[in-house]
Amino acid sequence: MAPPQNLTKEQVLVDRIIGHLKGGDNGPTVVFFAGIHGNERAGVLALEHIVQELEQQQEHIKGEIFAIAGNLQALDKKVRFQTEDLNRIWIPKKIQSIQSKNGECNEEEKELLHLYELLFDILEKGDAPFYFIDLHTTSSDTIPFLVLNDSLLNRKFASNYPLPIILGIEEYLEGALLSYINDMGYVSLGYEGGQHDDPKAVDNCMDFIRYTLHIADAVGFNTYKEYFLKNESLGKGSSPPMFYEIYYQYHIKPKSDFKMLPGFANFQQIPKGVAIAECTGTVMHTNRKRQIFMPLYQNQGNEGFYFIRPIPKVLLWLSKGLRRFKVEHLLVRLPGISWKVKQKGTLMVNQKVARFMAKSFFHLLGYRARQFDSEHLVVKSREFASKTSDYRKTSWYKHKKRGPY
Ligand SMILES: [Zn+2]
Repeated sequence: MAPPQNLTKEQVLVDRIIGHLKGGDNGPTVVFFAGIHGNERAGVLALEHIVQELEQQQEHIKGEIFAIAGNLQALDKKVRFQTEDLNRIWIPKKIQSIQSKNGECNEEEKELLHLYELLFDILEKGDAPFYFIDLHTTSSDTIPFLVLNDSLLNRKFASNYPLPIILGIEEYLEGALLSYINDMGYVSLGYEGGQHDDPKAVDNCMDFIRYTLHIADAVGFNTYKEYFLKNESLGKGSSPPMFYEIYYQYHIKPKSDFKMLPGFANFQQIPKGVAIAECTGTVMHTNRKRQIFMPLYQNQGNEGFYFIRPIPKVLLWLSKGLRRFKVEHLLVRLPGISWKVKQKGTLMVNQKVARFMAKSFFHLLGYRARQFDSEHLVVKSREFASKTSDYRKTSWYKHKKRGPY
């Protein structure tokens, strides 16, 4: 691929890479991204600090650690993005079209091309297992939490953190960097460290990075584990891990005037009948008790708020069992269900014929469901791609722990 205009590769890499550390011993490749949204600097600051810290202790590093800055130009301007959200354009078809533009790209498309090149360079030269972590912050006040695509591999890795874990965001957000990477089968987690401007968010991100390096066996000393466990602010959310699913997203239509009413914090329980937001003159109320997730308190962004609910443990167990049993091989014998692409684990479901097949059932099986047309659902497995064998020898994978992960 030709380097994007006006920026030579060398110039870009110096700015793009916050740090790259390589240990003498073999180990994983751990890749941290921060500042994919330019108004979220906490992760960048945290990575700068940890890279300095690790440079003093390089002999303890196993494998490779990368710290990568996301939207450089937006970080510079302190805005979420300039033309379009860099975390909504990681869609294979879109990437192909950006690559064929020959330099006629908008700001975020240029950033994507740089990151894409870097990502595949790391995958080509680095050693498995790979871990991809994306650091973010939110516009509302929040305790730290994890967001991930719902694959058993991701769940198992994430269950090592004493943090709330939110599954299923990929059904509402298309084109997130981590979904793109997860679709290739690697462990990939999003971490939200706190409110954008809260100094605590930087500390939270630093502790999270240290603990991640510890779990992934990327450092050979225990201080990182102890540091994390001593720090109460991180584990307060829920311990042991609590899984939630997103079941509703308020999408802000173009040119409408959305405003979240003040005072809502992430994860807050809201009783029935409370006014929560306003859109072009209409006030929205909760029509029943709700738990709110990521209420939007900034100008940029298309998602106003979400509703979430805890996933009962029995459902987590059930979904683990069904996925292991690969029940879809039986499903395709039923009328109305057929493979769309077998290798990629994609099913086409005619809901007029297979009436009982609801999206929620496919969720249990590890499928992401999208309405294809009025009659059909297209459901895609997250499990087919998982590179589970890359992780089998890691200590977190081997660790015998009872849990539905
Ligand atoms: Zn973000």
